[in-house]
Amino acid sequence: MKDIQVVKMKFTSGRGGTKQFVLATLIVVGLWSMGAYTSAAGTALKDRRIPLVPPPPAPPKIAYLTIDDGPEATYTPQVLEVLRRYKVRATFFVVGYRVQTHPEILLNTYYDGHQIGNHTFSHRYAELYGGPSPDGYLGSLKQNEDLINSIIGIRPKITRPPGGAAGNFNATLYQVMPTTGYRTTLWTVNSGDTEPGATTQTMIGNVQAQVAALPPGTPPIILMHDTHADTVVALPVIIDFLKSQGYRFDVITKNQPPNLANALF
Ligand SMILES: [Zn+2]
Repeated sequence: MKDIQVVKMKFTSGRGGTKQFVLATLIVVGLWSMGAYTSAAGTALKDRRIPLVPPPPAPPKIAYLTIDDGPEATYTPQVLEVLRRYKVRATFFVVGYRVQTHPEILLNTYYDGHQIGNHTFSHRYAELYGGPSPDGYLGSLKQNEDLINSIIGIRPKITRPPGGAAGNFNATLYQVMPTTGYRTTLWTVNSGDTEPGATTQTMIGNVQAQVAALPPGTPPIILMHDTHADTVVALPVIIDFLKSQGYRFDVITKNQPPNLANALF
């Protein structure tokens, strides 16, 4: 609009004004009709694109960080700090004998929005899995559940058996657990942070290799422990790696992610 006014002023002032004004008007009308023609052609092209259906959006890639064996006085607060910095939520499988010592760390973990899972009270394999009865495991689970409830007012609905279920659960425990209201949560990626000689580098390498090898559609459920200095150092690198692969983060619940063969039941 401004440009047209300038053109008009230039051509209508001074000598020979009328002739130049007519010329200017012709130019302006000519440009306007060219514009109208091209925009009509553009509409015709756009019309042809309407029937095309955009591809459906890819399902979101979700990773689950799971952190076992706390609350621990030094490392759990450091892990919480990293997660706060990255605005990432994780699932903590806490053990009762440590909850008893550090109820305030359990509270902080819960207040930060993380999921609390039950990792038994004692974490002692002989007590939990010795003998044919499921009572050792179920009793320790209940003892920890009552303790957690007395501190945060929530009874966990997810559990992870210390050492995993394979080689520890007998047939009865496999049969009984789904009837207790608990969901048993194993893992699909093991950082290996409790293995002898584990370092920050071995943890990062394990996670990268195992995430790359996951069958399509299987979410990374990553096993880590808030009882090691190296885990705290590796955690930001692992989060950055997963983000670079297009993952966002969520916590495990009774229904999410959906059941996976041998990992969630
Ligand atoms: Zn454990």
